[in-house]
Amino acid sequence: MFKSGEELRQQRMSLLLRGGFVVTQDAQRRVIKGDVLVEGGKITAVGNVSDEAGEVIDCTDCAVIPGLIDTHNHVANTLMRGLADDVPLEKMLEKTFAVDAHFTRRDVQAGALLGCIEMMKNGVTSFVDLFYWEDEVARAARESGIRAFLAWVILDQEFTTQKGSPLKNAEAFIKKVKGEERITPMAGLQGVYVCSEETYRATREMADREGVMMHTHLSETRPEVYNHQKKHGLRPVEWLEKIGFLSDRLLAAHCVWVTLNEVRVLARQGVKVSHCPVSNMKLASGGYAPLPEMFQENVAVSLGTDSPVSNNGLDMFSDMKVCSLMHKASRWDASVMPARKVFDLCTVDAARCLGRSDLGSIEIGKTADLAVIDLKQPHATPFYLDNVLSHLVYSCRGSDVKVTIIGGDVVVRDHRVTSVDEADAVERAQKATAEILEEI
Ligand SMILES: [Zn+2]
Repeated sequence: MFKSGEELRQQRMSLLLRGGFVVTQDAQRRVIKGDVLVEGGKITAVGNVSDEAGEVIDCTDCAVIPGLIDTHNHVANTLMRGLADDVPLEKMLEKTFAVDAHFTRRDVQAGALLGCIEMMKNGVTSFVDLFYWEDEVARAARESGIRAFLAWVILDQEFTTQKGSPLKNAEAFIKKVKGEERITPMAGLQGVYVCSEETYRATREMADREGVMMHTHLSETRPEVYNHQKKHGLRPVEWLEKIGFLSDRLLAAHCVWVTLNEVRVLARQGVKVSHCPVSNMKLASGGYAPLPEMFQENVAVSLGTDSPVSNNGLDMFSDMKVCSLMHKASRWDASVMPARKVFDLCTVDAARCLGRSDLGSIEIGKTADLAVIDLKQPHATPFYLDNVLSHLVYSCRGSDVKVTIIGGDVVVRDHRVTSVDEADAVERAQKATAEILEEI
């Protein structure tokens, strides 16, 4: 009954999304009433399409959007959802480390598959993940059909529970999956609190050698920044610049506690940022990532949910709204973070952060990663061409996603995942957590 990502690809036929409000995210940011034709996994026509197609999806009263891109996650941690709430980051890590120590490869796979299902049902077509055992996350991603950017986490030997050298593990993973259509390996780093100068240098060298991007946590909390400054005399961003680690192939999550000078360093070095407002607020990291200043300096910024432990959902519609409200409230300015910009963060700007110009917009020649949102809901009424974009940020929910398409394959149809057995995956994740909690 369910078709694997591979089977879906083999069966792939042309697809016509008929009569929706198409939020193109093109250079003019046009929203048009029309159709989108998908052939061979690519978008081949946008507007009034007269061609026939193997499958027609009626998009009347729906928004057709580029698939959302979540640029910071630890997806296997779905198994720890609701386990460490109402505590700051340090306490959360204490609790999660205890559970994490009992994770088996099967647990990571079960947790990751659950997360992939949740994301696809919420219209997310690409995600960035930072974790060990990324080979298990890759397995879940392949099974579900989602597009994944997977960063195997590297940290100093003395802090890791990984078998063998984290750097070597990461390198082996990168070599193994490089070249796959939907899995892009990255080199991951946990953060300055567990990574030495030597670890940063070696990771940068390995990433350059393999031609992959890097992903790390950076300046998430005040203690992280102050402790680092006490030890090294420099704030983390300044220090990473000094040791020659920063690069335009680095995607840094959080960047909450950064000065204007550090924002300029990020801009100068071309570092990309994943902003995680829900996680930062839930963990009471304090302060607000200075997004208006980052935009001013032309730093590429995208949006991340962060882990299901610190979010706790993987619904980017909810995160888009929080993102906008957080910055409006902190700046006492309703015009800060307008819906247009927030939507950019999850689409075109995220594609820029990942160096993937084929993603993030609905234009001829782009990869067909798309989502169809049902607007005919009490909470999205009235809808018309001029307010669709605003609805996507302020009114819609992940559960309004009717169809999700990745590389031209329909992975969610009528709100149901087509590639894997959702009920079975939920059951497996539920069981996996129950068994771990019994052990500790
Ligand atoms: Zn994180």
